[in-house]
Amino acid sequence: MSGRRQQLEDATATVAGWLRWLGHALVEPLRADPDMEMRLAIPDAQTTMTKGDVGWPKRPPATVACPECSAEIFQYRPHGTLNCPECYVQRSSEEFSALELLYLTCPVCRERMEHGRRHPQQFDVPEWATCRSCWYHWEFEHF
Ligand SMILES: [Zn+2]
Ligand SMILES: [Zn+2]
Repeated sequence: MSGRRQQLEDATATVAGWLRWLGHALVEPLRADPDMEMRLAIPDAQTTMTKGDVGWPKRPPATVACPECSAEIFQYRPHGTLNCPECYVQRSSEEFSALELLYLTCPVCRERMEHGRRHPQQFDVPEWATCRSCWYHWEFEHF
C-alpha cells in the first residue's frame, strides 16, 4: 500500500515538473525576442496615451508673447509670474489667458506640442496638448 502511494507521489511530482518546464518553454521565447516586445508595445502606445497629465496645475510649460514688446515669455509653471526677458514687463499668472499663447513645450522631450481648445466659447486657454514626438498628452480636464 505504501509502495503504491509512493508511486503516485512520484508521478505527481513528474507531472508538476513537466508543467513547470512547459510554462517556462512557453514564456521564455517571448521574453527573449525583443522584436516581439516591440510589436506588443506599439498598438498599446497608439490607442491609449500611456504618458500624460490632466488638470491646469499640470499644464505643460508655455511660451506667450509679451504684450509690450512681443518677445517670447516662458512660463514653466501655470501659477508662475510672467516676466518678459526683454522689457521686464510683469504679468501675474491670472492674466495668462489675456496673453497670446505661442506654444506649449513637451515636459518629456521638450518638443513643441500641438494644442487646441474644445470649448472656445467657454475657455480662452488651451484645453489639450499633444506631443507628436513622444506622444505625451495633456488634458485640461477629464471627459
Ligand atoms: Zn516685453
Ligand atoms: Zn514629447
